[in-house]
Amino acid sequence: MSIHVYTHPACLAHDTGPAHAERPQRLLAVTQALQQELPQLDWREAPRAGRDALLRAHAPALLQRVLETAPRERIMLDPDTVLSPDSAEAGLRAAGAAVAAVDAVLGGDTTRAFCAVRPPGHHATNDTAMGFCLFNNVAIAALHALDAHGLQRVAIADFDVHHGNGTQAIFARDPRVLFASSHQMPLYPETGHASERGVGNIVNAPLPPGAGGDAFRAAWSTQLLPALDAFAPQLLLVSAGFDAHRLDPLAQLQLEADDYAWLTAQLVAIADRHAGGRLVSLLEGGYDLDALRACSVAHVRALLA
Ligand SMILES: [Zn+2]
Repeated sequence: MSIHVYTHPACLAHDTGPAHAERPQRLLAVTQALQQELPQLDWREAPRAGRDALLRAHAPALLQRVLETAPRERIMLDPDTVLSPDSAEAGLRAAGAAVAAVDAVLGGDTTRAFCAVRPPGHHATNDTAMGFCLFNNVAIAALHALDAHGLQRVAIADFDVHHGNGTQAIFARDPRVLFASSHQMPLYPETGHASERGVGNIVNAPLPPGAGGDAFRAAWSTQLLPALDAFAPQLLLVSAGFDAHRLDPLAQLQLEADDYAWLTAQLVAIADRHAGGRLVSLLEGGYDLDALRACSVAHVRALLA
Protein backbone atom coordinates (compact mmCIF):
# COMPACT_ATOMS: atom_id res chain seq x y z
CA MET A 1 0.00 0.00 0.00
CA SER A 2 0.95 3.62 -0.18
CA ILE A 3 0.11 6.43 2.16
CA HIS A 4 -0.35 10.16 1.70
CA VAL A 5 2.30 12.49 3.08
CA TYR A 6 1.21 16.12 3.39
CA THR A 7 3.67 19.01 3.46
CA HIS A 8 4.07 22.51 2.05
CA PRO A 9 7.07 24.77 1.32
CA ALA A 10 5.45 27.49 3.44
CA CYS A 11 6.20 25.37 6.49
CA LEU A 12 9.91 26.05 5.83
CA ALA A 13 9.38 29.82 5.80
CA HIS A 14 8.25 30.05 9.45
CA ASP A 15 11.45 31.83 10.58
CA THR A 16 12.26 31.26 14.23
CA GLY A 17 15.70 32.89 14.04
CA PRO A 18 19.30 31.67 14.01
CA ALA A 19 19.50 30.01 17.44
CA HIS A 20 16.08 28.37 17.76
CA ALA A 21 15.75 24.59 18.15
CA GLU A 22 12.52 24.48 16.11
CA ARG A 23 14.13 25.41 12.79
CA PRO A 24 13.37 24.78 9.12
CA GLN A 25 16.22 22.27 8.81
CA ARG A 26 14.16 19.89 10.95
CA LEU A 27 11.48 19.61 8.33
CA LEU A 28 13.99 19.34 5.50
CA ALA A 29 15.68 16.47 7.33
CA VAL A 30 12.36 14.65 7.62
CA THR A 31 11.15 15.18 4.06
CA GLN A 32 14.53 14.39 2.47
CA ALA A 33 14.94 11.21 4.52
CA LEU A 34 11.42 10.04 3.66
CA GLN A 35 11.96 10.76 -0.04
CA GLN A 36 15.24 8.87 -0.07
CA GLU A 37 14.22 5.87 1.98
CA LEU A 38 10.55 5.39 1.11
CA PRO A 39 10.04 6.17 -2.58
CA GLN A 40 6.55 4.68 -2.59
CA LEU A 41 5.06 7.54 -0.55
CA ASP A 42 2.31 9.60 -2.18
CA TRP A 43 3.26 13.26 -1.56
CA ARG A 44 0.49 15.87 -1.38
CA GLU A 45 0.59 19.65 -1.05
CA ALA A 46 -1.14 20.78 2.13
CA PRO A 47 -4.01 23.22 1.57
CA ARG A 48 -4.71 26.11 3.93
CA ALA A 49 -6.96 25.29 6.85
CA GLY A 50 -10.26 27.11 6.71
CA ARG A 51 -11.36 29.48 9.43
CA ASP A 52 -14.16 27.09 10.43
CA ALA A 53 -11.67 24.27 11.03
CA LEU A 54 -9.40 26.50 13.13
CA LEU A 55 -12.30 27.86 15.19
CA ARG A 56 -13.33 24.37 16.28
CA ALA A 57 -10.17 24.25 18.41
CA HIS A 58 -9.30 27.89 18.96
CA ALA A 59 -10.70 31.17 20.21
CA PRO A 60 -11.13 33.96 17.64
CA ALA A 61 -8.55 36.02 19.54
CA LEU A 62 -5.82 33.45 18.80
CA LEU A 63 -6.68 33.43 15.09
CA GLN A 64 -6.48 37.20 15.14
CA ARG A 65 -3.12 37.12 16.96
CA VAL A 66 -1.52 34.61 14.56
CA LEU A 67 -3.18 35.52 11.27
CA GLU A 68 -3.68 39.27 11.48
CA THR A 69 -0.69 40.54 13.46
CA ALA A 70 1.45 40.34 10.27
CA PRO A 71 4.74 41.35 11.89
CA ARG A 72 7.38 42.95 9.67
CA GLU A 73 10.08 41.15 11.63
CA ARG A 74 10.16 38.33 14.16
CA ILE A 75 8.25 38.90 17.38
CA MET A 76 8.04 36.63 20.42
CA LEU A 77 4.61 35.44 21.52
CA ASP A 78 6.25 33.93 24.62
CA PRO A 79 9.90 33.15 25.49
CA ASP A 80 9.84 30.10 23.14
CA THR A 81 7.33 30.92 20.46
CA VAL A 82 8.11 33.08 17.44
CA LEU A 83 5.78 34.80 15.00
CA SER A 84 7.65 35.78 11.83
CA PRO A 85 6.29 37.49 8.70
CA ASP A 86 5.63 34.09 7.09
CA SER A 87 4.40 32.24 10.18
CA ALA A 88 0.70 32.75 9.51
CA GLU A 89 0.93 30.94 6.19
CA ALA A 90 2.98 28.14 7.75
CA GLY A 91 0.41 27.75 10.52
CA LEU A 92 -2.43 27.63 8.01
CA ARG A 93 -0.65 24.98 5.93
CA ALA A 94 0.29 22.86 8.96
CA ALA A 95 -3.28 22.85 10.22
CA GLY A 96 -4.54 22.42 6.66
CA ALA A 97 -2.42 19.29 6.27
CA ALA A 98 -4.13 17.84 9.32
CA VAL A 99 -7.58 18.59 7.92
CA ALA A 100 -6.75 17.29 4.43
CA ALA A 101 -5.26 14.10 5.87
CA VAL A 102 -8.43 13.45 7.86
CA ASP A 103 -10.54 14.09 4.76
CA ALA A 104 -8.40 11.67 2.72
CA VAL A 105 -8.48 8.91 5.30
CA LEU A 106 -12.18 9.22 6.11
CA GLY A 107 -12.98 9.61 2.41
CA GLY A 108 -11.27 6.34 1.60
CA ASP A 109 -8.49 7.81 -0.55
CA THR A 110 -5.81 6.32 1.70
CA THR A 111 -5.82 4.35 4.92
CA ARG A 112 -3.03 6.21 6.66
CA ALA A 113 -1.38 9.60 6.30
CA PHE A 114 1.58 11.49 7.71
CA CYS A 115 1.77 15.28 7.97
CA ALA A 116 5.36 16.52 7.64
CA VAL A 117 4.73 20.03 8.91
CA ARG A 118 5.92 22.79 11.20
CA PRO A 119 5.21 24.66 13.39
CA PRO A 120 4.22 21.80 15.69
CA GLY A 121 0.91 21.97 17.53
CA HIS A 122 0.36 20.02 20.73
CA HIS A 123 1.22 22.80 23.20
CA ALA A 124 -1.20 25.34 21.70
CA THR A 125 -4.31 25.71 23.84
CA ASN A 126 -7.68 27.09 22.86
CA ASP A 127 -6.52 30.67 23.20
CA THR A 128 -2.72 30.61 23.57
CA ALA A 129 0.17 29.89 21.21
CA MET A 130 3.04 28.44 23.25
CA GLY A 131 5.96 26.01 23.25
CA PHE A 132 6.85 26.57 19.54
CA CYS A 133 3.19 25.90 18.60
CA LEU A 134 0.76 28.33 16.93
CA PHE A 135 -2.29 26.19 16.15
CA ASN A 136 -3.02 22.77 17.67
CA ASN A 137 -2.90 20.71 14.49
CA VAL A 138 -3.91 17.40 16.05
CA ALA A 139 -6.84 18.95 17.94
CA ILE A 140 -8.01 20.60 14.74
CA ALA A 141 -7.81 17.19 13.03
CA ALA A 142 -9.80 15.49 15.79
CA LEU A 143 -12.54 18.10 15.85
CA HIS A 144 -12.77 18.05 12.06
CA ALA A 145 -13.29 14.27 12.18
CA LEU A 146 -15.93 14.62 14.90
CA ASP A 147 -17.83 17.71 13.77
CA ALA A 148 -17.42 17.69 9.98
CA HIS A 149 -17.43 13.91 9.42
CA GLY A 150 -19.69 12.89 12.28
CA LEU A 151 -17.40 10.43 14.01
CA GLN A 152 -18.19 9.67 17.64
CA ARG A 153 -14.84 8.45 19.00
CA VAL A 154 -11.39 9.74 18.02
CA ALA A 155 -8.23 8.81 19.93
CA ILE A 156 -4.98 10.77 20.07
CA ALA A 157 -1.70 8.99 20.89
CA ASP A 158 1.05 11.49 21.79
CA PHE A 159 4.61 10.16 22.14
CA ASP A 160 6.42 13.50 21.96
CA VAL A 161 8.80 13.80 24.93
CA HIS A 162 6.90 16.88 26.11
CA HIS A 163 3.37 16.59 27.46
CA GLY A 164 0.70 17.74 25.01
CA ASN A 165 -0.83 20.19 27.45
CA GLY A 166 -2.76 22.04 24.76
CA THR A 167 -4.37 18.91 23.38
CA GLN A 168 -5.24 17.71 26.87
CA ALA A 169 -6.78 21.06 27.80
CA ILE A 170 -8.88 21.23 24.64
CA PHE A 171 -10.34 17.75 25.22
CA ALA A 172 -10.32 17.38 29.01
CA ARG A 173 -14.11 17.73 29.12
CA ASP A 174 -14.88 16.05 25.77
CA PRO A 175 -15.54 12.30 26.15
CA ARG A 176 -15.58 11.87 22.35
CA VAL A 177 -11.77 12.05 22.46
CA LEU A 178 -9.30 9.82 24.31
CA PHE A 179 -5.87 11.41 24.81
CA ALA A 180 -3.03 9.00 25.69
CA SER A 181 0.45 10.42 26.26
CA SER A 182 3.92 9.34 27.31
CA HIS A 183 6.34 12.13 28.16
CA GLN A 184 9.30 13.00 30.36
CA MET A 185 8.53 14.52 33.76
CA PRO A 186 9.82 16.84 35.07
CA LEU A 187 10.05 18.75 31.79
CA TYR A 188 8.29 21.60 30.01
CA PRO A 189 5.34 22.28 30.22
CA GLU A 190 5.20 20.51 33.65
CA THR A 191 1.71 19.09 33.09
CA GLY A 192 0.82 15.46 32.43
CA HIS A 193 0.71 13.89 35.87
CA ALA A 194 -0.98 10.49 36.03
CA SER A 195 -3.61 12.09 38.27
CA GLU A 196 -4.81 14.30 35.39
CA ARG A 197 -7.68 12.19 34.04
CA GLY A 198 -10.10 14.65 32.44
CA VAL A 199 -13.54 13.04 32.38
CA GLY A 200 -11.85 9.64 32.32
CA ASN A 201 -10.62 10.33 28.79
CA ILE A 202 -7.05 11.39 29.60
CA VAL A 203 -4.29 8.84 30.26
CA ASN A 204 -0.86 10.19 31.15
CA ALA A 205 2.25 8.06 31.57
CA PRO A 206 5.09 10.31 32.76
CA LEU A 207 8.61 8.88 32.54
CA PRO A 208 11.64 10.02 34.58
CA PRO A 209 14.72 11.57 32.95
CA GLY A 210 17.05 8.81 31.77
CA ALA A 211 14.28 6.31 31.05
CA GLY A 212 14.89 4.26 27.93
CA GLY A 213 13.09 1.97 25.56
CA ASP A 214 12.19 -0.65 28.16
CA ALA A 215 10.33 1.84 30.38
CA PHE A 216 8.74 3.49 27.33
CA ARG A 217 7.48 0.17 25.93
CA ALA A 218 6.23 -0.90 29.37
CA ALA A 219 4.24 2.33 29.80
CA TRP A 220 2.57 1.89 26.45
CA SER A 221 2.03 -1.88 26.86
CA THR A 222 0.50 -1.72 30.33
CA GLN A 223 -1.33 1.63 30.35
CA LEU A 224 -1.67 3.56 27.13
CA LEU A 225 -2.29 0.88 24.50
CA PRO A 226 -4.90 -0.93 26.63
CA ALA A 227 -6.73 2.38 27.13
CA LEU A 228 -6.71 3.01 23.40
CA ASP A 229 -7.94 -0.51 22.72
CA ALA A 230 -10.76 -0.19 25.26
CA PHE A 231 -11.86 3.13 23.73
CA ALA A 232 -12.21 1.50 20.28
CA PRO A 233 -11.55 4.67 18.27
CA GLN A 234 -13.06 5.15 14.83
CA LEU A 235 -9.93 7.12 13.86
CA LEU A 236 -6.50 7.15 15.50
CA LEU A 237 -4.47 10.37 15.43
CA VAL A 238 -0.82 10.49 16.44
CA SER A 239 1.21 13.42 17.77
CA ALA A 240 4.54 12.14 16.50
CA GLY A 241 7.38 13.94 18.22
CA PHE A 242 10.81 12.35 18.05
CA ASP A 243 12.43 14.28 20.89
CA ALA A 244 12.46 11.32 23.27
CA HIS A 245 15.39 9.97 21.20
CA ARG A 246 18.64 9.66 23.15
CA LEU A 247 20.37 12.24 20.93
CA ASP A 248 17.74 14.94 21.42
CA PRO A 249 19.15 18.11 23.04
CA LEU A 250 15.92 19.21 24.74
CA ALA A 251 15.18 16.17 26.93
CA GLN A 252 16.79 13.19 28.62
CA LEU A 253 14.87 10.08 27.55
CA GLN A 254 16.95 7.44 25.79
CA LEU A 255 14.84 6.03 22.96
CA GLU A 256 16.20 4.54 19.74
CA ALA A 257 14.55 4.57 16.32
CA ASP A 258 13.49 0.96 16.91
CA ASP A 259 11.34 2.06 19.82
CA TYR A 260 9.35 4.33 17.49
CA ALA A 261 8.99 1.52 14.95
CA TRP A 262 7.69 -0.77 17.71
CA LEU A 263 5.14 1.71 19.03
CA THR A 264 3.97 2.65 15.54
CA ALA A 265 3.31 -1.01 14.76
CA GLN A 266 1.24 -1.27 17.95
CA LEU A 267 -0.75 1.83 16.99
CA VAL A 268 -1.35 0.49 13.48
CA ALA A 269 -2.66 -2.72 15.04
CA ILE A 270 -5.14 -0.74 17.16
CA ALA A 271 -6.26 1.24 14.11
CA ASP A 272 -6.68 -2.03 12.23
CA ARG A 273 -8.75 -3.58 15.03
CA HIS A 274 -11.13 -0.67 15.56
CA ALA A 275 -10.85 1.98 12.86
CA GLY A 276 -10.56 0.14 9.58
CA GLY A 277 -6.85 0.91 9.74
CA ARG A 278 -7.46 4.66 9.66
CA LEU A 279 -4.56 6.54 11.22
CA VAL A 280 -3.29 10.10 10.70
CA SER A 281 0.09 11.03 12.17
CA LEU A 282 1.40 14.57 12.55
CA LEU A 283 4.99 15.67 13.15
CA GLU A 284 5.44 17.42 16.47
CA GLY A 285 8.93 17.87 18.04
CA GLY A 286 12.36 16.34 17.50
CA TYR A 287 15.45 18.54 17.52
CA ASP A 288 18.43 16.36 16.56
CA LEU A 289 18.56 16.11 12.79
CA ASP A 290 20.11 12.62 12.62
CA ALA A 291 17.56 11.30 15.09
CA LEU A 292 14.75 12.99 13.16
CA ARG A 293 15.84 11.30 9.93
CA ALA A 294 16.08 7.84 11.47
CA CYS A 295 12.93 8.10 13.59
CA SER A 296 10.67 9.60 10.95
CA VAL A 297 11.68 6.88 8.49
CA ALA A 298 11.14 4.18 11.12
CA HIS A 299 7.73 5.64 11.99
CA VAL A 300 6.45 6.09 8.45
CA ARG A 301 7.84 2.71 7.33
CA ALA A 302 5.77 1.12 10.08
CA LEU A 303 2.72 3.06 8.88
CA LEU A 304 3.19 1.44 5.47
CA ALA A 305 2.93 -2.07 6.86
ZN1 LIG B 1 8.44 17.97 22.22
